[in-house]
Amino acid sequence: MEKCELKDGKLLMMCDSLNENTETPSSGRAKGMTFWMYDNVKTGKPSRSFAGIKSKQFPNGLVFKYCPFCGENIGSHMVDGKLNQIAKTKSESK
Ligand SMILES: [Zn+2]
Repeated sequence: MEKCELKDGKLLMMCDSLNENTETPSSGRAKGMTFWMYDNVKTGKPSRSFAGIKSKQFPNGLVFKYCPFCGENIGSHMVDGKLNQIAKTKSESK
């Protein structure tokens, strides 16, 4: 992918650079750029995915509003005009 895309307005398809520079949060306490995928608990299908950063200041993560590589808006489905700290809940029923 040359540029990031929001598929169906909720699933982030990462551009190549972002894809290569993110980790998934399965590594637990890992810090740095992270890619999150939330599953719908009823269907087991991905409901939302997004990228952001985990740091000492934001241990649960902070959503990127824009891709740091291609500059696309990739957080509009997660962010309401201000920085959005990720809640601790890992799945959602919506
Ligand atoms: Zn990108």
